[in-house]
Order: sequence, then C-alpha cells, then structure tokens
Amino acid sequence: MKFYSLNKQAPEVSFKEAVIRGIAPDKGLYFPEYIPQLPEAFFETIDQKDSLTIAYEAMKPFVQPDIPDEALKDILRGVLDFDFPLVEIEEKVSALELFHGPTMAFKDVGARFMARCLGYFFKDSEASVTVLVATSGDTGGAVANGFLGVKGVNVVILYPDGKVSDIQERQLTTLGQNISALRVDGTFDDCQDMVKRAFLDEDLRKNLQLTSANSINVARWLPQLLYYLFAYKNAKTKSSKLVFSVPSGNFGNICAGMVARRMGMPCDQFIAATNINDTVPEFMRTKAYRPKPSSQTISNAMDVGDPSNFVRIRHLYNDSFDALEKELSSYAFTDDMTRNAIAEIHANSAYIADPHGAVGYLGLKAYQKEHPDSYGIFLETAHPVKFIDVVENTLGVKLEIPVQIKQVMGKEKHSEPISSYDQLKTYLLRR
Ligand SMILES: *Cc1c(COP(=O)(O)O)cnc(C)c1O
Repeated sequence: MKFYSLNKQAPEVSFKEAVIRGIAPDKGLYFPEYIPQLPEAFFETIDQKDSLTIAYEAMKPFVQPDIPDEALKDILRGVLDFDFPLVEIEEKVSALELFHGPTMAFKDVGARFMARCLGYFFKDSEASVTVLVATSGDTGGAVANGFLGVKGVNVVILYPDGKVSDIQERQLTTLGQNISALRVDGTFDDCQDMVKRAFLDEDLRKNLQLTSANSINVARWLPQLLYYLFAYKNAKTKSSKLVFSVPSGNFGNICAGMVARRMGMPCDQFIAATNINDTVPEFMRTKAYRPKPSSQTISNAMDVGDPSNFVRIRHLYNDSFDALEKELSSYAFTDDMTRNAIAEIHANSAYIADPHGAVGYLGLKAYQKEHPDSYGIFLETAHPVKFIDVVENTLGVKLEIPVQIKQVMGKEKHSEPISSYDQLKTYLLRR
C-alpha cells in the first residue's frame, strides 16, 4: 500500500515511511492510496473468527509489503491481548468498552500498534527516531506505556501543566527509560502548536528523525478501525440498522470507523458527539468550517478546537458535503448535560460511564430520537476511574481502583517545565 499526502505536494510513500515521517513534507496528512475491500464473506462469517484473525485480515493490505505476514501477526498478538466487550445497557443501546488496556483508554491499541511497528522497523538498525507527542490527557499515557523500552525510539510527551488529571499525569511521567515528559505552561493547543512547529523546523530535522504519535500518524490512526469490526461481530444479529456514536476530539477514531465502513462493514450511520468544542457539529449545521481555540471541559481528551483528522473524513467523501451528511450526524453537549447523562445512565442501568462515554451516549440518544428503529453503539473510550473526581462527585459513589491504575498511583512524577517553543527546541537538541 502506498500513502499520499492530502496536500498533494509530496511524493507517495510506503507504510513504513509514512509511519516514520508521521506527516508528509508538504505538511499534509498521509492517506491510503485506496481503501481495501473486505469481501462480503468476511462479514458473513465474522462471528466465527477470533479478534486476531479479524485484525490480521483487515490490517494486512495497509502494511504490505513493509511488514510481512508473520511479523504482522506477532505485532497484533502483542497489541490485542485484552477484550473489547459490548455491554447492552438499555434496549437498543450498547456501550463498546475500549478501556480494558494497560492505560484504560482506547488509545492503547493505536499507541501499541505504532510502537510495535517502529520497533519492527528499527530492530536491526543503529538509527533511532524521536517520537514527539502532544497530549490533552490520554494519548500521553497510552504512548508512554506502548513505547516503553522499544529499542531505537525515544519519546517526548508535551502536556498542559495543571490541565490533565492526576492519574493521567502519573501515567505519562512515572515510567522513565526512553520516555520523557515536558509540562507546558499553556493549553493543549499550545502543546500541539509546538509539536507542529518542531516537525517543520529545519534545524531539528537535520539533527533528529522526528515523528508524531498523535492520530495524524497512520499507525496510530488506522488500527482503530478494528474496534468497529469487533463490535460488528457482536452486534450484527441485533439489527440491520447499526449506528455508532463516537465521542470525538481529533476525529481519528471516528474516521477509522468510517474507513471500516468503506471497507465493506454494513452499518447505517456515524454520529460524532462532542463537548462544547463544537467545530464539527457547527460545520455539519452551517457547512462552514471555523476552527476555534479549545475550551476546557470535563471530557478533556476531546478539548480540541481544530480537529486534525477531520480533513481525512472530508477527503473520504471527496469533499462532498452532501455525501458526508448522509453518513455522518454530529451533536455537541455541555458539561452539565454530560453530568446529567452520567447520572441518568447510572440511575437507569446501574452502569457507570466516564464523561467521554456519556457524551457518546448523548449523541446516540439525540440521533435515536429521530431514528427510533436504529440499534446504537456508543464508544466508551475511557474507564470512569480516569475521571474519578467528576464521576464520584456526580454519582456520590466511590469507584474501585483497578490494578492498572493502582500501579502508577504510588510512583513519583518526573517532568520538566517549558513555556516556549525555543525551550522545546533546546531540549530536543541537547539530547
Ligand atoms: C482521545 C480520546 C477521545 C477522542 O478521540 P479522537 O480520535 O481524538 O476523536 C475520546 N475519549 C477519550 C477518553 C480519549 O482519550
């Protein structure tokens, strides 16, 4: 598979080069030259396949020939060693739980897949790559965990000081080894701007091979399509009108779902649910794309004012608004609505949702009001314990702390403060 830049001013590259570069030299996001088709028989017999087989068949066309079959199987075996249960919480409403991985957020799959791909590419090489990543919360932990100890890869994580939860901060600052964390005096947007600037900085490029582990990287982005295939396997007999509601920030996860659909997965609609960072819902209402500065919310992994992957979604529909509108609905919700949803879900179903999942639930309910015959799956993207203060205060209950989280709670945080791009650059060049 070749990948081209969405800005069309850079050469096509193979999967390996797309992963190592992260972003194309013309600053465009990489996109697969075609969307591979899974045959109808794949979906007819999907309930007889295990996750590993599903994942192997779906990912193989994207990574060939750079990753041979056996290596791909090994990579996937390492990535998919936990479950993705679909939990029915109401009639026609299921939660797809994506938080059973090591950092209890859905980004574990993408981060581990990318780490293992880079590990494979650099296994016999003296060269090394520096992974630079901005996080509003969960990416950092998943990347830190996924890349820990991978030879040939150094990871530098930027996060907004004081704007991530204590658990999230511990997950990205306590591991050591090849993982370093920088706490930025600013917002997530400031972190992301610094990272983008670093990728375009000639001085840095001369000295370092830099890549991104944000969902702009194809190895982070594409394996997320597997969630939808796993869910389809478990829900296909429930209804012919399956819809997915995805709590969205940078729109990588939902875009991967839309790729799964394009590969042949039968489903009716995608719903992009956001918090008050409503650039996309507003676009779907007005046809005008107006990025804005991000606002802080209780679903902080979605505090994104200019979602980086939305350009991929538009491209998937050849930039046709009419075509996109038929397959994507979008709604935005306030923090108060989110808290009410957490309370309502708990009262009705005794299910505890995290603030991101609750936004997904609200999106699904809004859509089902108009489409009562649909069967809805909302993605539960983080374990509620990762947002323990919000959830406990809203519900008045105490959450049990899972082992994955207990492990990091006692460890000491290590990070360096920075407040400007120049400090980031000095830091990177010093290493
Ligand atoms: C990253 C994240 C999201 C948003 O995913 P995107 O792919 O950026 O849209 C939603 N929920 C949680 C918990 C996350 O960590």
